[in-house]
Amino acid sequence: MNFSNSKVLIRVDFNVPLDGANKITDDTRIEAAIPTLKQLLEKNNALIIMSHLGRPQKKKNEDGSINVKKFTLQHVVSRLATLLGTPVHFATDTVGEDATQKADALQAGEVLLLENTRFHSEEAAGDEAFAKQLAKMGDVYVNDAFGTAHRAHASTATIAQFFPKDKKAFGLLMKRELENAEKVVKNPSRPFTAIVGGAKVSDKIMLIKQLLEKVDNIIIGGGMAYTFMKAKGGTIGTSLVELDKIVLANELVELAKEKDVNLYLPEDSIIADSFNKEANTKTNNSDAIEEGWMGLDIGEKARNEFASVIESSKTILWNGPMGVFEMEPFAGGTRAVAHAVAFATSQGAFSLIGGGDSVAAINQSGLEEQVSFISTGGGAMLEYLEGKELPGVAGITKE
Ligand code: AMP
Repeated sequence: MNFSNSKVLIRVDFNVPLDGANKITDDTRIEAAIPTLKQLLEKNNALIIMSHLGRPQKKKNEDGSINVKKFTLQHVVSRLATLLGTPVHFATDTVGEDATQKADALQAGEVLLLENTRFHSEEAAGDEAFAKQLAKMGDVYVNDAFGTAHRAHASTATIAQFFPKDKKAFGLLMKRELENAEKVVKNPSRPFTAIVGGAKVSDKIMLIKQLLEKVDNIIIGGGMAYTFMKAKGGTIGTSLVELDKIVLANELVELAKEKDVNLYLPEDSIIADSFNKEANTKTNNSDAIEEGWMGLDIGEKARNEFASVIESSKTILWNGPMGVFEMEPFAGGTRAVAHAVAFATSQGAFSLIGGGDSVAAINQSGLEEQVSFISTGGGAMLEYLEGKELPGVAGITKE
């Protein structure tokens, strides 16, 4: 990013949560882009910022028009100006007259935010003509939107082809995400342990398959563990199960054996007589749960076993909670794993937390400062770890 005195078109992820009055409730994503924006401003560039906000194409007004009031990026202008410490101009369209005129007039050190890229259906379609219109506004293209790097959209991927290799770059956030993901994927220190949890096996099949090629240990917890328990012939009461994934669960167990990977399932569970924080609970073996009871968290023995595997690891990847951590009676297993990850990190392990719910879980444990890296891009990180090429990355690295 050694550009100076240029008009830099930069794609960021300002897809922030808003309340009913369209006030920002969490500005983490804006903050995350600030170092890149500041660095570019210090080098005397003019910044033309592109982002999406929400899903305006899916949530249109009754008459079929875009709900501008709800999805306008105007909502982030004043917060961005405050965080950046500089005024922010706003274009009321994305590639129309207002955008092009303001982009033309923009001076070094100035910042222009374009209206929501997803106001155009061409954005998600990855449309070339639309990408070209965007590209025309700048001399240089920077992509700092890791959270949307797995989408082949016009402003995240297609646009890159209109810039030669020396006129495009990753932003600092993108760079950090990729460097940390690479630490896990390429030459990890061993033992390498993956912890996979969450609701469904079906969401994580590709991830587990890919990880079995790389890890020494894989720990499976959360709702998905009961499909494995059932596959092994256990009884699981009314625990979450995907009956159509039982064959697959068995295949994954076999694949783990073949690859010499230790696969750990929770020996015991906290079971409950309803999906409710006021439910009656007890500890039970995970493979002998009686009818009317469901496993909602890993038990004490599982916590101890998982912790000892985690604490002797040198590389740790964690995606998905160990139980229904949103309800306090079933949050202990996830918390125990969070503590073990933090402890291993304090002993020199590299730990990467990826995925929305595991990030919420580590924050809930108050241990976010004690792990090596927390990814901001749930879907993008997952696809990277699954071994897929991210269009947002390929756009920059290819000619
Ligand atoms: P995911 O989005 O796949 O990472 O799944 C996260 C969700 O899985 C969270 O909302 C958890 O409450 C849920 N979950 C974790 N363990 C269980 C379980 N044993 N039974 C039902 N849901 C669970």
